[in-house]
Amino acid sequence: MFKANPNYQRLQGSYLFSTIAKKVAAYTEANKDADIIRLGIGDVTQPLAPQIISELHKAVDEMADASTFQGYAPDLGYEFLRNAIAEEYRQRGCNIADDEIFVSDGAKSDSGNIQEIFAADSKVAICDPVYPVYVDSNVMAGRSGNWNPDLQRYENFIYMPCTEENNFTPEFPKENPDLIYLCYPNNPTGMTISKDKLQEWVDYANRIGAVILYDAAYEAYISEPDVPHSIFECEGARTCAIEIRSFSKNAGFTGVRLGFTVVPKELKDADGIALHSLWARRHGTKYNGAPYIIQRAGAAVYMPEGQKQIREQVAYYMKNAELIRTGLQDAGYTVYGGKNAPYIWLKTPDQMTSWEFFDHLLSEVNIVGTPGSGFGPSGEHFFRLTAFGSYENTVRAIDRIKKM
Ligand SMILES: *Cc1c(COP(=O)(O)O)cnc(C)c1O
Repeated sequence: MFKANPNYQRLQGSYLFSTIAKKVAAYTEANKDADIIRLGIGDVTQPLAPQIISELHKAVDEMADASTFQGYAPDLGYEFLRNAIAEEYRQRGCNIADDEIFVSDGAKSDSGNIQEIFAADSKVAICDPVYPVYVDSNVMAGRSGNWNPDLQRYENFIYMPCTEENNFTPEFPKENPDLIYLCYPNNPTGMTISKDKLQEWVDYANRIGAVILYDAAYEAYISEPDVPHSIFECEGARTCAIEIRSFSKNAGFTGVRLGFTVVPKELKDADGIALHSLWARRHGTKYNGAPYIIQRAGAAVYMPEGQKQIREQVAYYMKNAELIRTGLQDAGYTVYGGKNAPYIWLKTPDQMTSWEFFDHLLSEVNIVGTPGSGFGPSGEHFFRLTAFGSYENTVRAIDRIKKM
């Protein structure tokens, strides 16, 4: 008799968003005319920018004509897009070649798949709280050990708490990891890492022979000067870092699907094996290329008009973030994030647990957010609000919280 992959049995249920949905459904059932405002959404709401739509239309028409039709895309991405992406890195002073860019269908796939090119017994370090994909993909691959329900942690992972005490940037772990997942600007905390601090992580990784898997999905939201846009701004990153990026949060591609991963050619393991060639092989074997139409839409993001339009979109969300951040502060809350990311991480009042505050906010003012404990035990007593709603709803929500 066949056997299912036993690693999957170790996965913990992803109850967070289903529990939220159930609680909201039960509340609306009991309070039929409740006017619920959702500030829990992790999805964009603004439509695609006009330049992107125009490039999409053009590409669709090309597919209708035999002379311009495109079949399989090159596995690793069209040169026009890889060049546009790498050019942006080079303008930022990062030394990245076109062929170090691997185009994909998004940052979730890449951040979940990247672990495949590392040894099965690699030691994994993750932040707590964390974007769950890094954890679950390594559980599936058999790197987790057993789940410890008391600690709410897997035995074999190294957890790096991100707390008020360390300003939500982790300390180096006591035990040396092989793989280190970092995400800045961070989901869920909305906090960033300074250039100096990130440089320390790069130096540390080079010193101990680890790789940093750097998720920069929220790079476009950075507004402060000291915050690095890429790990490749740090000296020595080319021998210890892989960077993952997305078109979802900067350009609204959550339903369109496009992302990329940067793997420098100098990044080699203990035996001198280049990860660049492994990722190329993995990509070429398991992925047949992002669609031509979508890659054209992606290239629109790098055109001057496209740049201007997506910056306006990000500014729209960041206006919401500012409103939430300052509104909550005025109401006496302790808040983090919201300056370089579309997430506000607030401390629950009166020692309430994250879920107690969820229920409180829902029943008192009909606002839905996300309990911080759902992202890991260090998220307990915190709560995430997002800036992805409409301006009007954000204004109304903050008004309600202020009156609460
Ligand atoms: C939204 C998000 C992603 C997912 O990006 P896609 O390109 O849509 O798959 C990746 N990482 C983090 C931290 C995110 O919040």
